[in-house]
Amino acid sequence: MPLWITLLLALLLPQWARAAPVAVAAGVYLQRDSFQPGRQPDGNSVVFVGPRGLVVVDTGRHIEHTQALIDFAAARAAPIVAVVNSHWHLDHLGGNALLRERVPTLQVVASSAVAPALKGWLANSRREMQAMLDGGTLDATTQTMVRGDIALIDRGPKLLPDVVVDGTRTLELGGLPLQIGHEARAVTAGDLWVYEPNTRVLAAGDLVTLPVPFLDTACASGWSAALSRLDSVPFTTLVPGHGAPMSRQQFGTWRGAFDGLLACAASQATDMTCSEGWVKALGDLLPVAEHKRAQAMVGYYLQHRLRAAPVERDRYCSAGG
Ligand SMILES: [Zn+2]
Repeated sequence: MPLWITLLLALLLPQWARAAPVAVAAGVYLQRDSFQPGRQPDGNSVVFVGPRGLVVVDTGRHIEHTQALIDFAAARAAPIVAVVNSHWHLDHLGGNALLRERVPTLQVVASSAVAPALKGWLANSRREMQAMLDGGTLDATTQTMVRGDIALIDRGPKLLPDVVVDGTRTLELGGLPLQIGHEARAVTAGDLWVYEPNTRVLAAGDLVTLPVPFLDTACASGWSAALSRLDSVPFTTLVPGHGAPMSRQQFGTWRGAFDGLLACAASQATDMTCSEGWVKALGDLLPVAEHKRAQAMVGYYLQHRLRAAPVERDRYCSAGG
């Protein structure tokens, strides 16, 4: 997520408190995402408790988030044996570095999209952030935030996977038969989701997010196709990349809102109509207090992605994107 959107969210967002992981099903726990004013976000982390250790889907960005996962494992006297990164955004994979230091035998699973993102999008982002620091106009809070992200990007090799998954397959991790789904060109050039068949919990990463889909590095049409594949997974609980767990019905509502937004973007309707339509289609999934910022963010994505000139709109839909 770029810096501007963090600052926008910080202004418009109610404080989300951090807490220890909570159970979402038998043997499945959720360390909730965070977003506090003046602070970059952490994505949700899902912990699957297997007979041979814990499997963590996404590791957060900040030390506090990742430390909560480490503390959870220590309290259960169960080792974290594997990590699956849903995608390469720092709020989902930044914690890899700390976890690797604490657990040298850790096995990290991710798609092949991570390595090129470190050399491309993240390296560019690092240059932009350094220029902002050098410009000397950032306030102290923003400087801290920017320095934190630069430090994470500089730990590049520690963020990379040991096991690359570029196709949907079953992997045994922690003694659990996890179905790892691979989506090319959706939120990023390579997204993974994780389905645990015993509990029927699906960790969807940022393929599903509240309050809006984060389209910064996304191919919207590929994302829509990925959602249709998610719909065919027999889950009963879906944990999104940001926001609270969803039932099948709630996922259906979210998916309808996503496809509705794409259809609206392709129509003659105004940006305002489309952003209001997004909020309305979500219904109870989005509290009234969050409507304003959701509409502002959808407005941004309409302008800069969904209704941008075709070369920009489809930038992440091609192999070179
Ligand atoms: Zn995220």
